[in-house]
Amino acid sequence: MYQQRIVIIGAGIVGLATAYALLKQGSHNVTVLEQAAVDHQRGTSHGLSRLLRLEYGEERFYSEMVLQSLYRWHELEQRSQRTLYTQTELLALGNETDHSTKASYYHLRDMGLPIQQLSRDTCKQLFPQFNTQAYDMCTYNKVAGILYASHCLQALKENILKMGGTIHESCHVKSILHDNPHTPLRIRTADNSEIQAERAVLAVGSWVHRLLGELHLPIRITRQYLLYFANLSPTLFGLHTFPAFLSDDIYGFPIHSTYAGCGPNWLKVASHNFGNTIDPDQSPQIEERVVRQVAEKTYQLLPMLRNARLIQVDACMYDVSPDENFILDCHPNDPRVVFAAGLTGHGFKFGPLLGDILSSLVRNTPPPVPIERFRLARLTQASYKQQSSVA
Ligand SMILES: Cc1cc2nc3c(=O)[nH]c(=O)nc-3n(C[C@H](O)[C@H](O)[C@H](O)COP(=O)(O)OP(=O)(O)OC[C@H]3O[C@@H](n4cnc5c(N)ncnc54)[C@H](O)[C@@H]3O)c2cc1C
Repeated sequence: MYQQRIVIIGAGIVGLATAYALLKQGSHNVTVLEQAAVDHQRGTSHGLSRLLRLEYGEERFYSEMVLQSLYRWHELEQRSQRTLYTQTELLALGNETDHSTKASYYHLRDMGLPIQQLSRDTCKQLFPQFNTQAYDMCTYNKVAGILYASHCLQALKENILKMGGTIHESCHVKSILHDNPHTPLRIRTADNSEIQAERAVLAVGSWVHRLLGELHLPIRITRQYLLYFANLSPTLFGLHTFPAFLSDDIYGFPIHSTYAGCGPNWLKVASHNFGNTIDPDQSPQIEERVVRQVAEKTYQLLPMLRNARLIQVDACMYDVSPDENFILDCHPNDPRVVFAAGLTGHGFKFGPLLGDILSSLVRNTPPPVPIERFRLARLTQASYKQQSSVA
């Protein structure tokens, strides 16, 4: 029987998870095109670790999505016989008056999750590494952990190939022609060849404006940094003695092995504050001032890190949507083209669920969660105008 050809552009977590979902759900003719390679350094999904947390403030919808996604990560772990996730638990330090810590606590407690509120004294006793002075609300949640990002990408790649999908690396897509709804989509690549397909999924992360320029999506590409600290005691900061943590915009992980398990063991910290707008092809210049600010906030929170060595800073990118919600939708002029954009620096943990959502858009089946909040139409003309001038 003839099978529609589905082409996915971009082999980050979103593109690979979509290919995996489509193949699992019975599509056979699935091809992924990636301009570089799976897990290449400039891709947003690259790197050893990503935090899986349920704390989403008032946005209980996202907390519920994280649970659905965690279940899928475990399924992928079993299928691939690889460790993709390690539970680290999570300490959140905040204040009664902030919009996030309290709301997260009540929502997660109502969802039946093992979250506890800690008094400042208990927090100090359990985690003397933290300076708790500025906080009057600390919570501790057992359900949180590290996703081994590179391993997740490799596990998806292996499964896609095993299930008969195809992945073409070093294949840069220049354009998609979809002028005639009665003829197949025509996907042009940098070597001037053309691939025809019935359906296409664009999961190109920070390069979204290159292929969907005509939509003037209100997405800003920003420069972000990851800071790594060495020379710390594993007894105080190691995995299973020190939790993942979250305080305002700063979050971090216990010491873990960097670079796909064969690198040194470092503690990792990042700020979720959105950085300066950049071009995704610009070679990263580390902005010392921004890095110093993140380091200073980290020292306030974890004073012992002043004696550690800030050994490495990695630069990467966010694709930021105006309301920080993802955009998951069909192209307004051609429903055969599905796209994901604006993952806003929090998309990795949702990978397998996003794959199922995009696959449902391709196959016209009910999505696993309501997706109205992810539709493009929610973004008003006003926010379009405001943001497209900086995108
Ligand atoms: C510093 C940092 C920390 C983060 N921390 C977390 C975290 O702790 N928890 C969490 O859940 N999320 C986190 N995120 C966010 C998460 O990593 C991203 O949301 C997610 O990886 C985005 O995946 P993607 O597939 O959309 O993009 P990408 O991984 O960038 O994939 C897009 C792919 O498309 C390819 N491509 C682009 N254009 C073309 C073209 N024309 N032709 C062919 N291929 C093309 C690119 O080469 C790329 O490989 C973090 C992000 C950053 C930058």
